[in-house]
Amino acid sequence: MSDYRGRFAPTPSGPLHFGSLVAALASFLDARRAGGEWRLRIEDIDPPRCPAGAADTILRQLEAFGLGWDGPVSWQHDRDAAYGAALERLEAAGLAYPCSCSRKQWREHAVYPGWCRHGVCDLTRPVAWRLRSDLGPRPVVWPDRLFGEQRFDPAALGDVVLKRKDGLWAYQLAVVVDDADQGISDVVRGVDLLDNTPWQRQLQQALGYPEPRYLHLPLILGDDGQKLSKQNLAPALPEADDAVRPLLHTALAALDQAPPESMATAPVAEQLQWGIAHWDVARLRAAPHRQTDATTP
Ligand code: GLU
Repeated sequence: MSDYRGRFAPTPSGPLHFGSLVAALASFLDARRAGGEWRLRIEDIDPPRCPAGAADTILRQLEAFGLGWDGPVSWQHDRDAAYGAALERLEAAGLAYPCSCSRKQWREHAVYPGWCRHGVCDLTRPVAWRLRSDLGPRPVVWPDRLFGEQRFDPAALGDVVLKRKDGLWAYQLAVVVDDADQGISDVVRGVDLLDNTPWQRQLQQALGYPEPRYLHLPLILGDDGQKLSKQNLAPALPEADDAVRPLLHTALAALDQAPPESMATAPVAEQLQWGIAHWDVARLRAAPHRQTDATTP
């Protein structure tokens, strides 16, 4: 039995687009090639950003592309107690502190200067909770499976927010607690999240969690050279099989796996089987990749 456990962890702020397909596919193929499990976690900690129905659309889109996950779907909206317990441990260790400062107050600084580290500046205002990034290991160094050795000083990145002033949990804490509780051994995700990893590794160490391996994937650009994202209105993935097949082929190609041309219209199960059998991280190029033409069949 493999000790590999991967995950895909979309934020349901809208339907999946080609960039998210590439991330889902890579983490799926990496897990299946290793004979491991692949979990699905819906990162819905920020309800105002998550329109009703978006999570259901994501589940349907993954199913249409044959990306079947293991075990039940996990949802961040019911993990409040776990995040709260982690924050309490960080506070008890002197690694988390309440902060009343507003973005406006520190706008002349590149990162939050840590004014509330030694006591809340303004007791009349609501507080966020921040991580003492100056007290954790510095620099944070880890080997990325594609981008090679990474070295960051988290203090230069600032004291990241763990819980927001409006009471919502922040991504950095939630992702670390969930990856640990779910026993995730391998994180495979887009390179846009690479510079979040130093805080996540600091949090893993502070909480005594194992540190997963990381594979960050090349940036996927649309045909216009812009990053594919929900903000840039990247088109939603199709669900109809005749549109899904060529797009899956394009995603395999975007991961530099060189799928045979003859497979472009093959059933998804066949393409995925080929993808698992041939998955080779060494083929991946780190440079940004352009999506070719298959979003509009
Ligand atoms: N929820 C994040 C996103 O959709 C991904 C988190 C992760 O893979 O660590 O961008």
